Amino acid sequence: MTDENHGNNLVYDAADEYRPEPPPPPEIPAWKDGSTRIGIHTSIAGDIAGSLELAHGLGANALQIFSASPRMWIRGSQRISDADATRFRARRRELQLGPLVIHDNYLINLASANPVLRTRSVQTFHQEIVRAAALGADYLVAHPGSSGGNGIDSAVSAIAQGLKQAARGLRSRELRILLENTAGHGTSIGSRFEELRAIIDKCPELALGVCVDTAHLFAAGWDIRTPQGLDATLQQIDRTVGLDRVAVVHVNDSKTPLGSRVDRHEHIGKGKIGLEAFAGILNHPLLAGKAFILETPIDTPGDDKRNVATLWKLMGRQVVASGRNGMKPRRKRAKARKSRAAPKSRKRVRRKRK
Ligand SMILES: [Zn+2]
Ligand SMILES: [Zn+2]
Repeated sequence: MTDENHGNNLVYDAADEYRPEPPPPPEIPAWKDGSTRIGIHTSIAGDIAGSLELAHGLGANALQIFSASPRMWIRGSQRISDADATRFRARRRELQLGPLVIHDNYLINLASANPVLRTRSVQTFHQEIVRAAALGADYLVAHPGSSGGNGIDSAVSAIAQGLKQAARGLRSRELRILLENTAGHGTSIGSRFEELRAIIDKCPELALGVCVDTAHLFAAGWDIRTPQGLDATLQQIDRTVGLDRVAVVHVNDSKTPLGSRVDRHEHIGKGKIGLEAFAGILNHPLLAGKAFILETPIDTPGDDKRNVATLWKLMGRQVVASGRNGMKPRRKRAKARKSRAAPKSRKRVRRKRK
């Protein structure tokens, strides 16, 4: 019997054919180590990577940002340059911040009955996804939209359709879109979790998640001040969207009373929800492992640092903030500072991505 393997006859074997390497299994991000994650929404004014320094300096280990000005339509694509994105990712890794949450532009309304606004919303949301992916964000939080009186069913369909159009090409394993519950102002969709569930069901390919905002819950009529009320609320969230879909909790006290349907955030413990309720929320076993992110106002210097410290304290930890400077108090809402939110200089240097 001849040993074919030692012969000189080269036999074609289909298995030897060159194939591209299969994509590596997704890496588990370093921040998913089971540790408590407390974050705060920080400013990108001046330099987008400055938001990382701010969050770290305030004593947070997670953060949320806008990736562009949140209250204006963006002309052009407003991409993040490769150089800025690389620098941002590297610094974030060094500071071990995570998750990184991006909040979408407030003007986006995927349910708009106005075709021009709807198209602009889809395009702008697509750009949100592109920028979030460039920065290596874990989550992109989106307000579902407003029906404008067109009825909930058609709004839900329009939102689902818009999300799918905007997310074309998105690899959902890297970036997850989270739908945020709303206070229920006007005809906004999402104050009822059934509405969020309906959108999720229409987008199975996107594996959508949910972000729960405590101030929005309260304004929408969920009395989370008592342990019983909180339990009932969490059970209802679990029955509708499922708590395993909730990745982020926006931790905000409310200036407005229960059921007001008006969305006004207040410092933790200084609003209508109260400090005791937040102790219950942060330590609730059903919310273990969620990222808690503050979106509290800055009325006087140091408010950001104080709110971060309050959350840690309510979880039984004393965290000393290392940074000297926090964020500056914002002037009254009427005139949002426009130009400051966009990165000032865009370096033209192109570096090869690793
Ligand atoms: Zn929001
Ligand atoms: Zn929120």
